[in-house]
Amino acid sequence: MLIAEVMLQQTQLQVVLPYWQRWLAALPSLAALAAAEEHDVLMLWQGLGYYSRARRLHQASRLLLAGPSASESPNQSLDAVVAPGSDGAERWPRSLEGWQALPGLGRSTAASILSSAFDAPAAILDGNVKRVLARLIASPRPPARELARFWQLSELLLDPQRPRAFNQALMDLGASVCTPRSPRCGACPWRGHCPAYAAGDPARFPVKDAPRTVPYQVIGVGVVLDGDGRVLIDQRLNEGLLGGLWEFPGGKQEQGEAIAATISRELDEELAIEVAVGEELIVIEHAYSHKRLRFVVHLCTWLAGEPQPLASQQVRWVRPAELADYPFPAANASIIAALLERLDASALAADPEP
Ligand code: SF4
Repeated sequence: MLIAEVMLQQTQLQVVLPYWQRWLAALPSLAALAAAEEHDVLMLWQGLGYYSRARRLHQASRLLLAGPSASESPNQSLDAVVAPGSDGAERWPRSLEGWQALPGLGRSTAASILSSAFDAPAAILDGNVKRVLARLIASPRPPARELARFWQLSELLLDPQRPRAFNQALMDLGASVCTPRSPRCGACPWRGHCPAYAAGDPARFPVKDAPRTVPYQVIGVGVVLDGDGRVLIDQRLNEGLLGGLWEFPGGKQEQGEAIAATISRELDEELAIEVAVGEELIVIEHAYSHKRLRFVVHLCTWLAGEPQPLASQQVRWVRPAELADYPFPAANASIIAALLERLDASALAADPEP
């Protein structure tokens, strides 16, 4: 439940499902998650993005196992609910504040856990619910600009006698009937009370702010090989969007700088090594919500300097076949595939079959 809620914070159910199944097969209990190495947790999360959530989930599992949250208020109205009895669950938080005190859990996720696991009367406000509510009031402003109002509305609608069933029905309505682009209003029980439907264009809601232009950056990346066929990777610092993941070293191109010079400079600044920048391996475009990146990746030959983790947690020389054992950001999967293909082609050229 906790795992599914955190995974669903960022991604749709169809995408999450195989990750969730793989996760539960590997870590079937809270105790198993708490005992796992962070490396293994990140490997299981690989491909879902927002890796800080995986790390916070890992931390949360250890706090949950450790006992009642110190920040949980004993006076909350939800405290009377009964927790299920596994994984020390009888000691789990019974209030919104208790769950929200855990790393990475916001109000809606906390409320969803409370209502689903304990049938507690806690209103939710995830993306699906925001969309349904925006249509039910034909809100002229984006939900993010009226969060207090949307929370009030969700609380007002909640059936306090059947919170679990109500919240589940509300989420299901958003996911399967009141869908983003083509809501099936003919199948909706709220059709007669919905101003967005009455206005004839429900997909117009929720209204959005005008799109802002996102910055565009070019990143020079070096896939550095030593004379022994090993490749150099580094582990990012724990802060930020991709914290704790492994990557090929590189950095931002400066204005007027040739990409080979960028790679050479970045590897010197971040790893204190000297390389010969060779041919281009691959170019990848990758869009995040807040920026667009173009990775220009070159093969490099290591010349001198013992690699130092000057801007990372650690650096490591690994065999190309071992790259699959490390969690990488999604954009790096294409780099790894291109590298393996290139190495295969080189091996074939060097040793053609008779
Ligand atoms: S009537 Fe249509 S727009 Fe309104 S809540 Fe139902 S599915 Fe959504």
